[in-house]
Amino acid sequence: MSGAGRGRGGADSRCSACGQPLLVQWVGDTAALKARVPLPPDTARLPYPQALADSTPDNLVWCLPRLPHRALCLRWTSPRHPPDCPHQHLTSHQCPPTTLF
Ligand SMILES: [Zn+2]
Ligand SMILES: [Zn+2]
Repeated sequence: MSGAGRGRGGADSRCSACGQPLLVQWVGDTAALKARVPLPPDTARLPYPQALADSTPDNLVWCLPRLPHRALCLRWTSPRHPPDCPHQHLTSHQCPPTTLF
C-alpha cells in the first residue's frame, strides 16, 4: 500500500545510521527545516530549559505538543519560548558514539 497515509505530520522513520526511531518532519511554513528528533515516550518530561542546555546554534530546540487525537506535530521554538511550556522539547537526533563491546 505505497502512496497511502501521505499527509502532514506523524511521519515516523528510523535513523539510517543507528536505527533509532525518529520523528522526521518538515517544520515551518515559509522556511521549512527538516527536523529529525528522537521519538520520546509520551510520558517523558522534557522541559524546555533542559533541551535548551543541550542545544547549539546548529541544533535547534523543537517543541512537541501531545494533543489528543492529533498527529504529532513539531513546532519551532523561538528564544522567547516560555520556559514553563508543558510540552516535550527535543533537539535533533545525533547518532550515539559507536561503542565497542
Ligand atoms: Zn514548548
Ligand atoms: Zn542515528
